[in-house]
Amino acid sequence: MLANSLIELDRAHLIHPVASYRGHEKLGVRVLKSAKGATVTDATGHQLIDGFAGLWCVNAGYGHESIVEAAARQMRELPYATGYFDLGSEAAIRLAAELADRAPGDLNHVYFTLGGSDAIDSTVRFVRYYWHAKGSPERDQFISIEQGYHGSSTVGAGLTALPSFHAGFGVPFDWQHKIPSPYPYRNPVGSDPDAIIAASLAALKEKIEAIGADRVAAFYAEPIQGSGGVIVPPAGWLKAIRELCRQYGILFIADEVITGFGRTGPLFACAHDEIVPDFMTTAKGLTSGYVPMGAMLMADHVYDVIADGAGAAAVGHGYTYSAHPVSAAVGLAVLKLYEGGLLENGVKAGRRLMAGLESLRDHPLVGDVRGRGMLAAVELVVDKARKTPLPAAAAPARRIFDRAWENGLVIRAFAQGVLGYAPPLCCTEGEIDQIVERTRKTLDETL
Ligand code: PLP
Repeated sequence: MLANSLIELDRAHLIHPVASYRGHEKLGVRVLKSAKGATVTDATGHQLIDGFAGLWCVNAGYGHESIVEAAARQMRELPYATGYFDLGSEAAIRLAAELADRAPGDLNHVYFTLGGSDAIDSTVRFVRYYWHAKGSPERDQFISIEQGYHGSSTVGAGLTALPSFHAGFGVPFDWQHKIPSPYPYRNPVGSDPDAIIAASLAALKEKIEAIGADRVAAFYAEPIQGSGGVIVPPAGWLKAIRELCRQYGILFIADEVITGFGRTGPLFACAHDEIVPDFMTTAKGLTSGYVPMGAMLMADHVYDVIADGAGAAAVGHGYTYSAHPVSAAVGLAVLKLYEGGLLENGVKAGRRLMAGLESLRDHPLVGDVRGRGMLAAVELVVDKARKTPLPAAAAPARRIFDRAWENGLVIRAFAQGVLGYAPPLCCTEGEIDQIVERTRKTLDETL
């Protein structure tokens, strides 16, 4: 049993991100106590396979001594150094160089943040600065994609297109526009890849023309929409929309906060379509969740415009904890693990995960299975032919999450009846098989 006092303290004092406050007060908190590899143990001693790597972030898995050592060493030697002005630390400089070396094309300039939301915020600030420096301050309109998620800062929440991140907040989002998601399972044009790509291109063109091409500053896309329900666009989609943005002279931002660091196989998902964005945002797997950090990468041509535009003046954008040396030291240690076999294991485990989840298609509740690498989803329906979603009134997401938990599996159950999977890349074959088996058991119990 979890100590009642802890539940009461939580209820009284801790505000949980993205939770129903009144619902949470009733249900109480589930506390995790320890973790190793892909297994987490809660405060009652119950062991679970973490099929969601925390919040799609513990890509390396839990309990790596090399990461702990790197953080401890850095803390002993230099726990803090500002990156402000002309100061810095060796760890941050080295991590920036390593990332630039591995990032697509000429994304050579790295700006470290505390996570994904402020990496996105930073792109908005730098995009605006870029257009001012180019003498086009009227380019102040931004386009993103329905069901996209780009964080929950005041600005990023606007680019995000999930209703609960807007409802009730009253933030003016009138400079942000959306085009439909390239959602193969529920696309009005059907699931044919060429038709989906053509529809996205037409929608983006139409949106740009409606706003006025000379007013649009930037376009944002996740290579795979994560929080929207792991929506995997067809191969070639990312390349096609990137190219359209280039034709219109609009900056293109690839948000790899989830898809980065081996989540879909290669270090960055842009590699699948061989594209080079103007900006790329990352976080999560960058430090594998051991400490907070995000990174925004900027292409040479963008950096030059901003640097020349500023001249001798300071570019006024920064956080006290930008380029934190402990986070950077962790980032370097994590990168070594990825390249020391983890990425490879993730590719193998990802194949097994997809094959396993595909085997669930015979289940009466399973309407769709999709994914790439170690990022996957199972979409549940009550009627396969009509693709009827589970009734929201039955609160299936929470019920399924709870059943899975009792069965020793952490998954993400999205409100619309989509189960999300993002296990650590270190998963063994046995653990992947358990993820699939425990999902089937959970679905049987949900029927
Ligand atoms: N962008 C994407 C694609 C994300 O999935 C997330 C978080 O899940 C963010 C941005 C925001 O990152 P953070 O929660 O670290 O602020």
